Parts: sequence; C-alpha cells; structure tokens
Amino acid sequence: MAPDYVIDPAPRPGVPVHGGGVFPVRRIFCIGKNYVDHVKEMGGDAKSDPPVFFTKPPDAVVESGAVIAYPQATENLHFEGELVIALQGSGKNLKDRHEAGALIFGCACGCDLTRRDLQAAAKKAGAPWDSAKGFDQSAPIAPIARIADVPPDALDDARLVTSVNGDVRQDEALSAMIWNVPEILMGLSKLFELRAGDLIFTGTPAGVGPLRPGDNVSVEIGPLPALTFSIGREHGKD
Ligand code: MN
Repeated sequence: MAPDYVIDPAPRPGVPVHGGGVFPVRRIFCIGKNYVDHVKEMGGDAKSDPPVFFTKPPDAVVESGAVIAYPQATENLHFEGELVIALQGSGKNLKDRHEAGALIFGCACGCDLTRRDLQAAAKKAGAPWDSAKGFDQSAPIAPIARIADVPPDALDDARLVTSVNGDVRQDEALSAMIWNVPEILMGLSKLFELRAGDLIFTGTPAGVGPLRPGDNVSVEIGPLPALTFSIGREHGKD
C-alpha cells in the first residue's frame, strides 16, 4: 500500500543515459583535492593534504544544455570540470580494483559548481563545506555513457578539458588523479556502503575560475558525451 504522504513527495532525480533510459540518482559523493596542481592553486600541498570526501544532495543534478541561474549568496561562483562515475551495484570494504570495477554502470562529464567565497570562509572557520558545495543546481552532468560502450582503456589516455566561452581553462590527463577511480571506490566503501544509483564526482584539475551570467561552459573527456551549460541571471535580479 502506498504511504499516506502528508505532502507531495519530491520526484526522484535522474540523469539521461546516452543511447536511452534514465539513471536514478540515490546519492552524490565528491572527491576534493585529487589533482596535485589543483591542490597547489588552492594554496595547499598534496603531500600533506590528502584527498577528501564531501557530498551534494541528489536533486542538485542538472541536465546538459541547461541554463543555470547564478546562485544566491555568492560573489565567486567557480567551475570545476570532473569525471563522474555512476554505480549499478552495492559494496562496502571493497578489496581490489576488480570488486570496484564491477560496481560501475557508466561515466560522464560533470561540473562541481562551487561557491568559492563560502568555501574559503568555511575552510578558515574549520566549518563544513555544505553551503559551498551542496546548493541547488550545483551538479550539472552530461548523459552517462554505459561502461560497456566506452572503448577499453579509452579513459586511461583521456584528457579532461573545460572551456568557458570557447577558451580552454582546464586541460589535464585523467591519469594525473592522486586517487584513481578504483582507489576512490575502495576508499569511499570503507566509509559508506556504496549503492546502485550513487554518483561520484572524482575531483577537478588545475585551472578552476569564476563564472558570470552569460558564460557558456563545456566539459569534455575523450569519447564521453560532452557537458554544456550556461549561467543565467541570478534569481530575483535584473
Ligand atoms: Mn570538485
């Protein structure tokens, strides 16, 4: 029997799959500080500052092609182009890359939109990053490519390229990740039981920067469908 909900339940967030279908999103995990040169540009040292995990709410996903309103409460919205992994299975305390690989449904180009001013304030205060990272529409993501459709090793040699208004701003090999994808899944699975429907943003390389209303952003990774979106006016402002 359907629950007697006292308000309308929110629709389940989803991401289109390349070739058809919709991937239902359960949770969004993100990795920070996963490329040496990005850690450096943020004023850190990757040797003493290892990657970290944080989350975004599932309904932060936005489909490719969208116009994303410039978010409230920031003067410094940043782009972070990232490879996103979509999971089809469950697992905790994963032991090796084979166990980790079996969980992967597919992968996609994504962008971890960040209110950099709020993140800087949170870092200074030793406070959580939720306001900086987990805001509405903060997770644009391209259609997900099924892993079976991605040529073997195609991602090993791929570069992640983020452009703003046609200018390349980030261009780095995925192989430059500090924790590679199996290591990310193994690490996450020691903290959480990973489940089908989980998305994982795997971190951004150097070159992050601010966005303004009217900017057009693209994130491309090798053979994956590209992500494009643009920034619109802030809600309630001319
Ligand atoms: Mn990020």
